[in-house]
Amino acid sequence: MISITNSARSSFLDCQKKYFWEYVRRWSPLKEPYYFLWGRFIHELLGTLYTFGDLQGLAKAFQGIETQREVLLKTGLYTPEEIEATCVTAKGCLSGYFLRWREADKQYEGLDVERVFTLPLSEDVVFKGRLDRAVRDLSDGAIVLQEHKTAAALSPGYWDSLVFDTQNKGYLLGLQHAIGHADCRKVIYDVLVKPNFKRKVGESLYALAERTADAYIRDRNMLFVRKPIEYRTEQIENYRYELEQLAETLRWHYQEGIWLPHHTKLTRCAFSPLCAEGEDSWARRRFRIRAEIHPELVGVGE
Ligand code: SF4
Repeated sequence: MISITNSARSSFLDCQKKYFWEYVRRWSPLKEPYYFLWGRFIHELLGTLYTFGDLQGLAKAFQGIETQREVLLKTGLYTPEEIEATCVTAKGCLSGYFLRWREADKQYEGLDVERVFTLPLSEDVVFKGRLDRAVRDLSDGAIVLQEHKTAAALSPGYWDSLVFDTQNKGYLLGLQHAIGHADCRKVIYDVLVKPNFKRKVGESLYALAERTADAYIRDRNMLFVRKPIEYRTEQIENYRYELEQLAETLRWHYQEGIWLPHHTKLTRCAFSPLCAEGEDSWARRRFRIRAEIHPELVGVGE
């Protein structure tokens, strides 16, 4: 059975060889980019916050930070200072988020948190995803998908570009056809913007993290922003058709074992050592083979 996610789809469309390294051979760079770690860390904490709800959820999420500190220390991939700074920043982020949305969240009844869905696309290809949260809007009874996003900044065209967001449409497909909320077409896009502070001369990573954590609480109305987006049925169904076409294409590549390099940009690619030197070279020392196919479907602590 071939399983695809939004990330796997992006990888394949970017470069077939990249998909091969990532999802057929399951190579992962030893140290994942920091933004990926931060995104997973925060998603995990928000998952805990909403699983338990309100003050109990906040307390459990703070405990979750301690658990994740231990998990990260055991990996040996990050320095104790990097881990401590991440935990301090996460505490500020979580506190600011909670204060910002505690009242507004009373409008919603939580239905599902961090639920993994599987949607068959053909006999041997499935589409998988992990929804952040499904809620019922108590004002009109509508089922709504809530998606958390960490962002470095909100550029002028940020919201307009979301009409093209395939992840939202894919998750709505999952909610409609795999979980059974057939009428759900609306997403609350829940953005957590990271304060863009530069490290001052002589400033420790820990001091920078404390400054960032303070800003999350002080500037919470600017840094935590939500916007509802409603997709037309036609837009969601078109994406299903696109995924079904991709399923056909991928099956062919798996059968033939053909994965062409498609290096269109001269920007850095995490897999360039494998492409340049091959798997049976020194390059493999910079990578590990994952147990799981799709890391985004498992939590940091799993
Ligand atoms: S180095 Fe180029 S060809 Fe190789 S995986 Fe990356 S983008 Fe594709």
